[in-house]
This record gives sequence, C-alpha cells and structure tokens, in this order.
Amino acid sequence: MNILLIGAPGAGKGTQAEKLSQLLALRHIASGDLFHKAFEEQTELGLKAQRYVDLGELVPDEITIPMVMLHIEEPESMQGVILDGFPRTLAQSQVLDAELLRINRQIDLAIHLKVSREELLSRLAGRVFCQVNQHVYHIKFRPPKVADRCDLDGSKLYQRPDDAGEAMRRRLVIYFNQTFQVLDYYSRQNKLREVDGNSSIDSVQAMLLSVVNDYTGRETRV
Ligand code: ADP
Ligand code: ADP
Repeated sequence: MNILLIGAPGAGKGTQAEKLSQLLALRHIASGDLFHKAFEEQTELGLKAQRYVDLGELVPDEITIPMVMLHIEEPESMQGVILDGFPRTLAQSQVLDAELLRINRQIDLAIHLKVSREELLSRLAGRVFCQVNQHVYHIKFRPPKVADRCDLDGSKLYQRPDDAGEAMRRRLVIYFNQTFQVLDYYSRQNKLREVDGNSSIDSVQAMLLSVVNDYTGRETRV
C-alpha cells in the first residue's frame, strides 16, 4: 500500500506519518527530511537545495523528483510507503504516477489533512526538531519530557529558521497556490480522502486509521 499525506506546513503530516508508518508497517518518506539530511551531510544535492529551502521556495523538480524516487525504489520501501511533503505540485504528481507505473506500483490513497490557518501558525511557531533524527515536538502541544531534549535519542532540540518570518509566510502562500491542483488530480482518480486535522494528535490518528481501514477492509487499531 502506498499513501500520500497532503497538508500545509504545520498540518501534522510528519507527526502522523511517524505513528502510522509503525502501525501499518510502511516506510515514511518525507521530502523535507531528505533535504535536511542532505544539508547535514553537505552532499552536492544538499548544497544545491539549501538556498531554496532557506527562502521557503520549492526546490526545482529536477532535484526533488529523482531524490524521492530513489528512496521509493529502495528495497526497504517495497512493502509500501507513506509519502509526506511530496508531491506538492501537479507536475510532481504526474511524474510520480508515471514512475510508479514503470515499477508496477501505484498510489492507493491521497489523504488531505486539512487544518485552519490560525492553527497552522501556532503549530509552526512552537515546532522544534531534534538534531539527530528530526523527531518533531511542540513546545506547548507536544513538549518533550526533559526540556530541550529529544525523548527518543536525547539530542538537543532546535527551531527551523524557515518556520518563522518571511520564509514561513512564503511556504504557506506557495502551498495554498499549488496544492489545490494536486488535490484535484487525486480527486479525479477517486483516491482523495479528507481528514479534519484540527483536533488532538490522537484523534487525528484515529481518523486517519479509519480511512485506511475503510480502504483495506481490515481493522488496524491504535
Ligand atoms: P513542511 O513542514 O511544509 O511539510 P517540509 O519539511 O516538507 O515542510 O519542507 C521544507 C522545505 O523543503 C520546503 O519549504 C521546500 O523548500 C523543500 N521541499 C520539501 N518538499 C518539496 C517538494 N515536494 N518539492 C519542492 N520542494 C520541497
Ligand atoms: P508537518 O509535517 O505537516 O509540517 P508536523 O507534524 O511537523 O507538521 O506538526 C507541526 C507542529 O504541530 C509540530 O510541532 C507538532 O508537534 C505539532 N502538532 C502536530 N499535530 C498536532 C495536533 N493534532 N495538535 C497539536 N499540535 C500538533
């Protein structure tokens, strides 16, 4: 099974995908995390992408698409994936479908996690990540057990520069301008489902699982 999580910056895609991927035994692939890892490792791809990410602009398709496809085609992804943050444009959706067809796979569900603008702003303002594995916390809504330290690996937490100021505003504008085409694309294929992402992490999780259970006809519980 291959699932897309579509939602604005701060909608909760990463938080939900992390949990769902464990419950459903699917690999979580987040395009933003792959870019972040590439910066940390100072790879050529990282150096090329960084100036776009810093400004809150989309990284060009010729960099983004091969990077994500490479991960989808790895053996660890064969049992299925949850894609988070990709595709973000109509062109990316079309290429993704064509590339999946080539390897006899397809997207099963595209789930739109819908969150109000006000809620997005307060989620982004308090979001912090751990330095080592990008585990995500929120200073108010999902605080770590020990201040400033990741519960899972003990590494220090930091705030992403593009979660504030002009870069954050730019990301939201781009999301709302581009994504309706992506939603429309999957809606025409009858693959689009909508989930209200404004409630608590656990209740959004339960709604997502129910969408997946409806699709598979099986019962996976939290
Ligand atoms: P979000 O919190 O919006 O989900 P991400 O961590 O997914 O943010 O993305 C961070 C940045 O990485 C984006 O602002 C953009 O520069 C780049 N990026 C991530 N995914 C894509 C994509 N599918 N296409 C182009 N650029 C992307
Ligand atoms: P995305 O990957 O869509 O950009 P994240 O999963 O990183 O979003 O979530 C954004 C921020 O909001 C994080 O700090 C996270 O801890 C917090 N968060 C996620 N889901 C919820 C929720 N349902 N209620 C409150 N805070 C949430």
